Amino acid sequence: MQTTTARALDPRKSETVEPDYEVAILGAGVGGIYQIKRLTDLGVRATVLDLSPDLGGTWYWNRYPGARFDSESYTYGYSFSKELLDEWHWTERFSGQPENLRYLNYVVDKFDLRKHMQFDSKVDRMRWDEERRCWHLHVEGRDEEITARFVITAIGLLTVSTPPRITGMDDFQGGSWHTFFWPHEKIDLAGKKVGVIGTGATGVQVIAEIADKVGELKVFQRRPNWSAPLANGPISDEEMADIRRRYDEIFKTCEVTPGGFEHEPDRRGFYTVSVEERRALWDKLYGSPGFAIWMRNFREIFTDEVANAEFSAYVAERIRQRVKDPEVAEKLIPKDHGFGYQRVPMESGYFEAFNRDNVELVDISATPIERITKTGIQTTAKHHDLDIIVYATGFDAITGGYDRIEIRGVDDAKLFDKWKDGPSTFLGLAIHGYPNLLMLGGPQSNSASVNFPRSIEICGKWITSFVEYLREHDVTRFEATADAEKQWTDHVREMYGTMLMRKGKGWFTGYNSNVPGHEYGRTRYFVYNGGNPKYQKEIGKVAAAGYRGFELA
Ligand code: NAP
Repeated sequence: MQTTTARALDPRKSETVEPDYEVAILGAGVGGIYQIKRLTDLGVRATVLDLSPDLGGTWYWNRYPGARFDSESYTYGYSFSKELLDEWHWTERFSGQPENLRYLNYVVDKFDLRKHMQFDSKVDRMRWDEERRCWHLHVEGRDEEITARFVITAIGLLTVSTPPRITGMDDFQGGSWHTFFWPHEKIDLAGKKVGVIGTGATGVQVIAEIADKVGELKVFQRRPNWSAPLANGPISDEEMADIRRRYDEIFKTCEVTPGGFEHEPDRRGFYTVSVEERRALWDKLYGSPGFAIWMRNFREIFTDEVANAEFSAYVAERIRQRVKDPEVAEKLIPKDHGFGYQRVPMESGYFEAFNRDNVELVDISATPIERITKTGIQTTAKHHDLDIIVYATGFDAITGGYDRIEIRGVDDAKLFDKWKDGPSTFLGLAIHGYPNLLMLGGPQSNSASVNFPRSIEICGKWITSFVEYLREHDVTRFEATADAEKQWTDHVREMYGTMLMRKGKGWFTGYNSNVPGHEYGRTRYFVYNGGNPKYQKEIGKVAAAGYRGFELA
């Protein structure tokens, strides 16, 4: 770990004192690792600050059983180093958390990046210093501030976990935790009575993984999610050799597909082919690896209610075929939204888990939870005795990390107040009123709608070129204009209008029942829905025009 040269600075001497760093990056996850590599390659004096005890972000924290990619592993890894691509062998098509964390550590060690990282370093507030044109960052527990000319946030999309607010949670005498904080030591589940609350992508993974390992499993479901098979499997030496040969082609494809995967949408119009042809495609896609079911589908699935309803009915049939008890099957089929209105969880044996004698689906929309007791969960129907309660209840998505740092920009204005009703940004990369601040994986960028590392590399490259430009042109202050920000935010908002996802009760629209102000119906425009190629074109145009939309000084 690097020791900081931070010092308390006398503002009166401001012009003469250089900031401690040219760039401070917040976050040592997938984004922060990429960004520090690119900047230090340029010789930029940069540091990474992360609140965690070690690197990895999402993959450091989410250690729950079943945690794994739903991006093909070989499209998730970094593309910037041929040597790295040649060296790393992904062992599974959708690799699990331990391997993912090993990979990130391998990258950091290979490129000797750890020396730029400061862990257990939670930035709890930062303020813009107009006179010195730098940010002052306060790290919790430290007396002295760190100063940096530019700040890049790489704080992730889903890193602020949101446990529910249920009476009696503290009374429970067994083990209980949010999936994000799954204990690092091995938890012996054998013979245990386990309750899981939440059936999003996380719940679906954990439930399928532990069903045959626990004594009893009770799944407390408020609303079911549409979910489809992940089709994971090992990657043999021969397959990996083939992937290595094809890496250029793989990454090229990811660059031109809407979601940054190898999956290309079916370009035939939904209505131009017969019902039989549509079903033939779906028969092929159901059980194909990864997001094929979503991303190789007809494009109308995303935009047209009738098309979506026909496809949702098809998936419902498949669920009915997999779940033996018809009553349970019906409860597992969403009735309040169509397939893909919310982020689709990918599963491995999830529906079959409910065919097991030791697994019970507790429908808490019919019999709500009244309270947590010392020994379990009391619903309006009965008491469920439990040894462990797992909260798979999601995250204060995308802006949650920003809301937890007091960020004061021009005139001391708090970002929290500006974004009270939802974020507004320029390109998802910058914010008017917050000079010299760039976001990697920020709201309204392509990060939530595109295979995450593919977005990180696109935005990280753009940010790196921008920093290079600023250095070359001796620019010490940049700020997105109000006009540019408004135009981009309006554009993002308009695109929601075309997507069925706008009706979804999920984090794509900022819904979270456990965060006051984020209730359903108060849409937050988080996601850029124009697709990967269009996003690259938009940010490329801005750069090519000498960073039009920014004031540079
Ligand atoms: P989520 O999708 O927001 O799901 C949270 C679940 O908890 C929902 O079923 C929700 O029900 C339920 N819930 C929340 N509060 C509750 C309460 N008070 N009482 C009862 N139920 C409650 O969260 P997540 O599953 O953690 O997934 C979040 C995102 O993380 C995913 O969409 C995905 O992008 C990412 N993720 C990715 C992977 C991967 O890459 N493989 C794996 C896991 C997660 P309601 O719907 O009724 O609110």
